[in-house]
Amino acid sequence: MRPAVADAMPSAAPTTQFPPGVAYVDGRYCAMSEAKISVLDWGFLRSDATYDVAHVWKGRFFRLDKHIDRFLNSVKSLRMTLPVGRSELQDILTECVRRAGLREAYVEMVCTRGFSPSFSRDPRDADNTFLAFAIPYSSVANEAQRARGLDIAISQVRRIPPSSVDPTIKNYHWLDLVAGLFDAYDRGAENVVLTGDDGGVTEGPGFNIFAARGGEVLTPDRGVLEGITRQTALELCRELGIPVTAGPLSAADLARAEEVFITSTAGGIMPVTRIEQRPIGDGRPGPLTARLSALYWEKHEDPAWSTAVDYDT
Ligand code: PLP
Repeated sequence: MRPAVADAMPSAAPTTQFPPGVAYVDGRYCAMSEAKISVLDWGFLRSDATYDVAHVWKGRFFRLDKHIDRFLNSVKSLRMTLPVGRSELQDILTECVRRAGLREAYVEMVCTRGFSPSFSRDPRDADNTFLAFAIPYSSVANEAQRARGLDIAISQVRRIPPSSVDPTIKNYHWLDLVAGLFDAYDRGAENVVLTGDDGGVTEGPGFNIFAARGGEVLTPDRGVLEGITRQTALELCRELGIPVTAGPLSAADLARAEEVFITSTAGGIMPVTRIEQRPIGDGRPGPLTARLSALYWEKHEDPAWSTAVDYDT
């Protein structure tokens, strides 16, 4: 029997106004409702920030090293400085999860420009801000969408060009993605992918996209964040002997695809079954997506891919 994508992933815990969870701000741990930064922080005023999101599933971090590598590279590229080293960063993330007691968690680390103590406008004078938090796991697609596949639109809103903001540095420049989402909602779709400068398909709000046709898989190689889940999907395809390429992906490639899926730390590998109001393949989640998704969740228990959180210490 074909493994069901939705079955592999139970629902996340219910949330209140402030989700349960624990943050690390200004060098101390606090409840999410207490986690605050200054309104003068350039992370807020100028979106001058980078971040990363890892997740914990069944009490284990998934590929945490890869998230930390990407975060440290982003911080360096933006000429920011973290107040902590790699192993202390890992300890803080783990401690947020441990204190929150979450077995399924969404774990975010953030570095912003902060602000200059002398109120200078020179970013070199700023004291950078570091914070982290762990809240209940959440997904790009809800349970029904994971079961039947998402209905997405291709927006004419262009993704911010890589020559302006490097998409491989994970960032909060989301006005294009949010405009694209509203465009999609206005057209009755549930989510969106944006096109790039060259008209090619790029990515969506919080996810990368893949298309499969004739047993071969393709994902865009330009204008996108190199998602850790995207990287994982590429590796899983290779493990399963499925030919996979990163290269230009057009709207026509999506329309012709037999299967389409999206990838994100928030939800894993999720099927897309309608694009621009037309069904993909037979309009149901396909076997290749289901195989990849099942293997993705299996890897969460494999010590080569995941690290246990020690909740007892
Ligand atoms: N693309 C964008 C713009 C994102 O913000 C994200 C994640 O938030 C992704 C892709 C997927 O990346 P990952 O698989 O590392 O979660």
